[in-house]
Amino acid sequence: MFEGITEGLTNAFSAFRGSGKITEANIRDGMKQVRTALLEADVAFDVAQDFVKQVTEQAIGAEVLKSLRPDQQIVGIVNQCLIDLMAGDHQLAIKRDGITVIMMCGLQGSGKTTTCGKLAKMLKEDGKSPFLVAADLQRPAAIEQLKVIGDQVGCPVYHEDPAKSDPVQVCRNGVKQAKASGATVVILDTAGRLGIDDELMKELQRIDNRVAPDTCLFVCDAMTGQDAVNSARAFNEALELDGVILTKLDGDTRGGAALSVKAVTGVPIKYVGVGEQLDRLEQFHPDRMAGRILG
Ligand code: GDP
Repeated sequence: MFEGITEGLTNAFSAFRGSGKITEANIRDGMKQVRTALLEADVAFDVAQDFVKQVTEQAIGAEVLKSLRPDQQIVGIVNQCLIDLMAGDHQLAIKRDGITVIMMCGLQGSGKTTTCGKLAKMLKEDGKSPFLVAADLQRPAAIEQLKVIGDQVGCPVYHEDPAKSDPVQVCRNGVKQAKASGATVVILDTAGRLGIDDELMKELQRIDNRVAPDTCLFVCDAMTGQDAVNSARAFNEALELDGVILTKLDGDTRGGAALSVKAVTGVPIKYVGVGEQLDRLEQFHPDRMAGRILG
């Protein structure tokens, strides 16, 4: 994971090795390489620029620490700036009493349905009673897929005949049934499309308005880099997202989406998907992600 950016940053830090202290000349040299490493990892241009500016300001103002070599000191500053870049509210808010409704949205193939199952499993293991609602009536196999996942997790799945229903109705009926069955968290698996289109956004806005979910999470594929960030921005404009779940971080991802999405959209990452299996969902920790990026 993140081999390219890790190698690029490591090379940048070597600009500081061997010198007695941090100087403006080696900062300039090192930061050029940091920017290149970020851009090659598909970090959004403005985010890379701001990041380098932050690190530069802190490096220039940094006190010379006798206990640390200059390159170690720069690694520390970069680490903290990476954490700050991704920091936000990473907890999923679940009500103490009553039912919490979570709307999951995302483009087709992003891993949304799988992530609904992963989240249900995690919540169940945390003592909650999750309930899944199959509101993706666009992708023919989605309802069946969610039923299979629900069976694996041991979680009820509400579904209707896609030919006779509409997604808003499915969500409303699903929430009603979840309440009646004593569930504490409802997860709505909504439809995706291959790209962002008006029809999809209108459908999601109708669900958002009529069902009033407590939380809206956007699932996106980390391997798609800046496209993931751009679609997060479009969904956030339409739906006011509460969080992002980045999937496929176990794949050949360069790190750009993880580093840019919070800075570009203001929406924090809540979880990351790190494999196809239902137990491969992790709570997002910016310090751990920074650690993985720095290698
Ligand atoms: P949806 O169309 O957004 O509902 O996507 P699916 O849930 O059907 O997932 C699409 C593909 O991505 C499936 O093959 C999943 O197994 C795979 N997938 C989902 N999450 C992850 C992940 O975190 N890592 C990997 N490697 N594959 C994932």
